[in-house]
Order: sequence, then structure tokens, then C-alpha cells
Amino acid sequence: MIKGIKTTSDFKKERLSTGQKVGMINLGCARNLVDAQGLLANLKKKGHRVVDVQESDVVIVNTCSFIEEAKKESIDTILDLIELKKKGKIKKVIVAGCLAQRYSKELTEELKDIDAIIGAQKLERDAIPNDYSLTPKHFAYVKISESCYNQCSFCIIPKLKGKFISRTMESIIEEVKRLDEQGVKEINIIGQDITAYGMDLYREYSLAKLLRKITKVIKNVQWIRLLYAFPAHVTDELIDTIAQEERICKYIDMPLQHISDNLLSSMNRNITTKQTRVLVNKIRSRIPQGSLRTTFIVGMPGETKENFDELTRFVQEVEFEKVGVFLYSKEEETPAYSFPKHVADSVKRERMHALMQVQKKISKTKQKKFIGTQQRVLIDEKSNQEKALYLGRTEFDAPEVDGIVYIQSENELKVGEMVNVEIVDAYEYDLVGRLL
Ligand code: SF4
Repeated sequence: MIKGIKTTSDFKKERLSTGQKVGMINLGCARNLVDAQGLLANLKKKGHRVVDVQESDVVIVNTCSFIEEAKKESIDTILDLIELKKKGKIKKVIVAGCLAQRYSKELTEELKDIDAIIGAQKLERDAIPNDYSLTPKHFAYVKISESCYNQCSFCIIPKLKGKFISRTMESIIEEVKRLDEQGVKEINIIGQDITAYGMDLYREYSLAKLLRKITKVIKNVQWIRLLYAFPAHVTDELIDTIAQEERICKYIDMPLQHISDNLLSSMNRNITTKQTRVLVNKIRSRIPQGSLRTTFIVGMPGETKENFDELTRFVQEVEFEKVGVFLYSKEEETPAYSFPKHVADSVKRERMHALMQVQKKISKTKQKKFIGTQQRVLIDEKSNQEKALYLGRTEFDAPEVDGIVYIQSENELKVGEMVNVEIVDAYEYDLVGRLL
């Protein structure tokens, strides 16, 4: 136990005895959100009151430490909460998640006002998560595995999260059935690498099999979305399953990170330039209407101008629907930390900007092609400012990360409802639809 900092169990005992209200600030990705939901569900089960942060006595911040930017956001949030504690607006600050796990010693020493630290949550193979949702009622995230099957040289996740663990198909199906009965319309399947699902448990890539089982049990769920596919583990069976199953969104989020052979190799991505091209072409030909989202890292140690130019040409050639560009972040305890030839920050930023400009043009052209088409849209919210304005998404946009469809409608629409619209205008990322 770290001196001066209470453990999770101390925290629980203390909370039970005082009965204070607990609020949660969740940072980072959807995987963190699922952990936050688990934490809150457990607190609720133990008799604590989960409330909005503004009304809480105790605030838990579920942190992220994936890259420098995420760490900064986490620290800033902790500092803001400590300020609130000093002003007497809240009583306790609890830090959970990746940053807490990775830097517990430093946090203990430097931020004495933190009351307790809870590390990253562990996933049990057979666990069916307790029911507590931080997402709107109509969509949910289902985490099928924890940690990562890969060892990318720039990434701290495998070290931080430990051994890769897949949940059993039975536990996932149970959770999906429950969500389906609750009227959830969209299920987003998540994990660090969902395509490695089952390799530890069933000794084979089992995502396609899991998806087919899921499609057999759902009644209300209309969309199943796959987030975070690792290119080297995308099988033909998986591509065909996505192509054939109507309720699986024709949307693939597949971080490629780079295209140059030497960088794919130094990143330890287990795939070559040629294999990546074959894979992308296969996806394009079997799911021609599909939306392909990817991410790239620029400024990895050793990335030359030629490598970057090759990446730019690749992006121009493939015309991905969505591209995220990240600056390489030098993370302690990762192999890439001690690689030679680190790229200057200014060069990294220039490359990121240049690549985003290229993608911007592609995105505009792609978006324009939606004009005049009919789309099914899931209504996510009603805008507060404009009475008749609704925000929704097509199957080609994931919640919280992609674009939205604006719909002006005098008819009252319900959040969680699926409507048919004609796309009448298009912006760089968003669309405008007219109710049909
Ligand atoms: S696939 Fe690579 S980058 Fe993604 S979490 Fe796993 S190790 Fe990290």
C-alpha cells in the first residue's frame, strides 16, 4: 500500500460509513468509459449514491495516460478538482484509471490532496458487467477483451494493462441480450484489439463467430459497430461476416498507423506495406459501400521525409472516409522511447498538419457524394437551442468520434428513434438531412 493514499477497499469502507454522494469524470476513450460504468455500478451496489459531478461530495476522475496530451488533460482535471476541494465545494478527490496506475507513486508524492487512488480496472473472463450506463439509453459499448494482444513499440498499453484477456462468448451474449431487452439500438464492440478476440481463450480468431452469435439473439438492436480492428488480425471470415450481416455497420475502424515498411516494422505492427494494401483493397471490394476509418502516427523515430511522402500518397490513393492523425508521443517504458533518430516536434506538427489538409479535401469530396441519397439516421439528441433541430448519425458514423446529421423537423422525433432522411447538404464532417 502506498503511504498516505487509501486503497480502493479503504475508500469503499469509508464511503459506506459516511454515505456521501459520488460523481464521476471520465476521460479518454470508450474503453475507459466502460471501466467507469463498472466502477459506478459497484459503488451503487454497495449503497452509494451516484450523482452528477456538480452535486457530489466525492469526485472520481477516471484518467487516461495513453499519450502526452491525455496525461496533461488528466492532471489538469485532478488539479481543478483539488482546487474545488480547497474551496470546500467537494470533500474528496479519487483518482482512478491508467494514469493512477502508471504514476501512483508520483501522484502520491506530488499531489497530497488526492484522497485515494484506484488503478485500471481488471476484466474477468466470465463477468457480465453490472448495469450502470454513462451513455444515452439507445447506444452502448460492450467490451469483449482487456489489454492488448500486440506489442506495438510506441505503446504503453500492454505493459500497463497486463495479459490479454477475452471474455467468454456466453458472458458477452448475456450482456448483449440484456441491452437488447432494454431497447438499445446500437452496440459498439470495443477492446484494444477486438480482432484478436478469442486467441487466448479459444486459440483462434473468434470475432466473426461471436458476431454471428450476437446477430442471432438481438431483436431491438439495429446496429452493431466494430471499433479498433488490428490490421494483421482482420481475417477473410471477418470481412465476409461484416459484408453479409445486415445489422453489422458497414464501418470499420482499423488503425493502420503507417504505410512504410521500415516504420511498420519498427512499430512492430506485424504487417507489411504490401499486405496492408492487399487488405485495404479486399475490404473495399467486398464492402464497397463501407466507411473506413483509420489513424496514423506521424513523427515516429526514424520517419524520414520519404516515409512521410509515401504515407501522404497512400492516403490520397485510398481515400479513407475518416482519418485521425496523431503525433508520436515519447512514452517512458516503451521500446520506441530509446529508438534513435527522434523527429523534432516542429517537424511532427508540420507533418500532422499537412496530412490533415490532404484528408480534409478527401473528406469534403466524400461527404458531397451523400447529397441526394437516402439514409437511415439514429436520433442522438434534440438540440436545446433550436426546438425543431435534431442531431443523429448514419451507420457510417460512430458515436462521439465521427460526424453528425442535422435534421430540421416540425414533427416531434424521439431520441433513439431511427428515421429515414434525404441528405440535402454536406459539410466537411457533418451532413444535413430532410425527413422523408
Ligand atoms: S494495437 Fe498496438 S497501439 Fe493499439 S493498444 Fe495494442 S499495442 Fe497499443
